[in-house]
Amino acid sequence: MNAASAPTNSGAPAKVSDPSHTIFVARTLRMKLKAEAYRWLNAAAAEVNFVWNWSNETTAKAARPFAGKPKRLSEFDLDNLSAGASKYFERIGSDTIQCVNHEYAAKRRAAKRTRLRWRVSRGTRRSLGWVPFKAASLKRKGKAVRFCGKSFRIFEPERLQGVKWRQGCFAQDAVGDWWLCLGVKVKGETTIAPKEAVGIDLGLKEVAVTSDGARCERSRFYRDIEPRIAQAQRRGHKRQAKLLHRQAANRRRDALHKFSRRIVNEYQYIAVGDVSSAQLVKTRMAKAVLDSGWGMLRQMLQYKGEHAGRSVVIVSERFTTRACSSCGCLTGPSGPRQLVVRRWCCSACGAEHDRDVNAARNILAGSRSRTSVSGNEPSP
Ligand SMILES: [Zn+2]
Repeated sequence: MNAASAPTNSGAPAKVSDPSHTIFVARTLRMKLKAEAYRWLNAAAAEVNFVWNWSNETTAKAARPFAGKPKRLSEFDLDNLSAGASKYFERIGSDTIQCVNHEYAAKRRAAKRTRLRWRVSRGTRRSLGWVPFKAASLKRKGKAVRFCGKSFRIFEPERLQGVKWRQGCFAQDAVGDWWLCLGVKVKGETTIAPKEAVGIDLGLKEVAVTSDGARCERSRFYRDIEPRIAQAQRRGHKRQAKLLHRQAANRRRDALHKFSRRIVNEYQYIAVGDVSSAQLVKTRMAKAVLDSGWGMLRQMLQYKGEHAGRSVVIVSERFTTRACSSCGCLTGPSGPRQLVVRRWCCSACGAEHDRDVNAARNILAGSRSRTSVSGNEPSP
């Protein structure tokens, strides 16, 4: 388990409204650090792991004491118990210790257990490095930032211009590179889209197809990098394999960002299917499902839509492939055996359909008659 995974992705931002109805949205700024800082950060990450494991041990002992009543330690109990501990650490300060305590307590509460996994500092099962901090302990200084009495140079320092961050962390990725992640608030801008409504079908052949026929192809994300990953692994080039994995993930995120941005700029009302990868991962299509990025796309549509004042609705995908979008009869392909059927002709009304576009049309039509499963509802 890696505590850094939560702050590093720029997912699901929380919405904060103020009385004047300006929408502020939380985003994560992510900037790569220059390599000279890696040694220091690796050492600091080991100290963070020490604090995490101490929290873990202390909480577990309090939950099952040798004598007396068991007690569930909150983050504030941990803060009190660890007060003054920063003098024993060479790098991290009390604010980082408190951040670790708070993150630990939140994770433990969410997991509903008395003990979590240890953070490991060495060896092959090493946890990815993570050093959290509070807003005040990171200062901008020219093109660099200062933290714990040390300067860190970053790539693209101009992105910090005029930005006010709240809290953040240094996080390491699987390749071993370190990133500065900062939680910031940005103003959402509400606009009116030129087109009215769209339905989006999430699939395997294409990640997404809209009811107007636009497609987000998945073939480019991963499949052409795959043979190179296999080759690197066969030759024992671990770092090369990890770099390729990161390249594939970046490419996928980039394609999804572009697609979701285009949809949000174009349409006022957006209906998305509710397929969950959790069910399909168990089947033979597992690999295609795992790198399809449905969840990521839905999340992007939701938060981008929210910023721009769109209605994003998530609707059930039941019967959307089988039903004909012209007459409503269940004449289309069904079941896993007919997954290969890409185009079909309705036997009831004679309309010709592209499988995915037809499904997307049904999703759009269905979103208006049925109640949505979740998501922000359309305004009347
Ligand atoms: Zn029909």
